[in-house]
Amino acid sequence: MIRNFLKTFLLVELVKGLVLTGKHMFARKITIQFPEEKTPISPRFRGLHAQRRYANGEERCIACKLCEAVCPALAITIESEQREDNTRRTTRYDIDLTKCIFCGFCEEACPVDAIVETHIFEYHGEKRGDLYYTKPMLLAIGDKYEAEIAANKAADAKYR
Ligand code: SF4
Ligand code: SF4
Repeated sequence: MIRNFLKTFLLVELVKGLVLTGKHMFARKITIQFPEEKTPISPRFRGLHAQRRYANGEERCIACKLCEAVCPALAITIESEQREDNTRRTTRYDIDLTKCIFCGFCEEACPVDAIVETHIFEYHGEKRGDLYYTKPMLLAIGDKYEAEIAANKAADAKYR
């Protein structure tokens, strides 16, 4: 009882709190000013999706539909056809990002590294359908960020 009385009387808890505040006042600051400042992003970061092409411009996707099958959110819709040269390509490749949970299973399942998740996380939709990404949209993202995607894949290659 006496100890509790002294602790209360001498404001021990308050002093402890002030000491802690004082310690952090001079410590290195870890708060950053987003969006001007950004934290480093892992090569495995799972952001906005992209479809990739080979260096000759041919799209990588062979319409095997493994990504569609593995997607737990049923966010991917694929339609395909056979070309005159007997190769198979998608005629439709849509990802509904309102369903996607960014698990990365589609990227893991793809045998040709066609569908990938990029570092992009600053995007939004303002009306219904804005987050429904079609094949041309996904290919455009892949075209724009191919150098970065390839570098991230190379950095992660030894762990795959
Ligand atoms: S990240 Fe996961 S939920 Fe999103 S499309 Fe790929 S498999 Fe589906
Ligand atoms: S993105 Fe990859 S897994 Fe999906 S259909 Fe195309 S080749 Fe198959």
